[in-house]
Amino acid sequence: MANKRKCVECNAPLKRDEVALSIKILGLNVTNFYCIACLAEIIDCDQDDLTIKIQEFKEQGCTMFL
Ligand SMILES: [Zn+2]
Repeated sequence: MANKRKCVECNAPLKRDEVALSIKILGLNVTNFYCIACLAEIIDCDQDDLTIKIQEFKEQGCTMFL
């Protein structure tokens, strides 16, 4: 699990939650990963909404977020 990914937009090191969220939202074949701030811009929604989504995925027991 030593896969250190960075946001392709701003080069910020990504938390595991952010990587998982990129996969959840952009699809399993995604090769570009984004931090929450950049992802919010791309899909045109609030960072807060994405934070809530991460929480929801965790509550659903999504293994990508464990
Ligand atoms: Zn970014």
